[in-house]
Amino acid sequence: MLNRELLCRVTKNFNTELDENALERLDVFAEMLVETNKSFNLTAITQPDEVSLKHFADCLAIFKFVDFPENSSVIDVGTGAGFPGLVLLMARPDLKVTLLDSTKKKLGFIENVLKETGLNAQLLHARAEEAGKMPEYREKFDFAAARAVANLCSLSEYCLPFVKVGGKFVSMKSASSDEEFLQAKKAVGLLGGEFCGDYLFDLAENLPRRIFTVKKISQTPTKYPRPSAKIAKSPIK
Ligand code: SAM
Repeated sequence: MLNRELLCRVTKNFNTELDENALERLDVFAEMLVETNKSFNLTAITQPDEVSLKHFADCLAIFKFVDFPENSSVIDVGTGAGFPGLVLLMARPDLKVTLLDSTKKKLGFIENVLKETGLNAQLLHARAEEAGKMPEYREKFDFAAARAVANLCSLSEYCLPFVKVGGKFVSMKSASSDEEFLQAKKAVGLLGGEFCGDYLFDLAENLPRRIFTVKKISQTPTKYPRPSAKIAKSPIK
């Protein structure tokens, strides 16, 4: 199922070594993703090469630009079927990964993959803007990461409350996100963050990608995150 050769070739400069165990886990994940997808829509990407490239290599690109010290804690906000958090965990089982999503059924799929691969992660069924207010999750993570969840402005309000001062928020975006980036600058500042990285790269030919990193430099004011309707209706500008 997994195209190991393609995955290893594309990720060879990503500062992470995919050993035999990691490849085996990713293979199981890919099989289960495609199989479950027949009865429950988890992804539009189901061809082996595409899963290897557009899901797995795409998520692993985070390691190229962000250094995760051993045993760091990471929350994946809006993980869906496990992207990027479950892929990061498969490559780096030392990470303490929390996978958050508002759709319980998707977390059920992840739970099955964790069981099958013998990995451990915390599954959190919640809306980000609600969990971000809870003392057990607020400013408790070294990293928050997200892919394809919301525009950078709302996403910053979802993610930055989870990050400890000194930690980072990592946002995976399309290459054409200049406008979002400019619009999110004020929100990031108000939420206690500061953009510290903007990495534009080609995952493969004709697959441009962009990763933004934000450093948490001060605590997020307690009024954030606001309720979902407010975030949607009045983005911080
Ligand atoms: N990150 C995954 C990926 O890249 O494949 C999933 C992307 S999917 C388009 C967006 C996911 O974010 C969905 O699973 C949805 O349930 C979740 N989501 C969106 N807004 C959310 C929120 N405010 N709190 C929690 N989960 C949210």
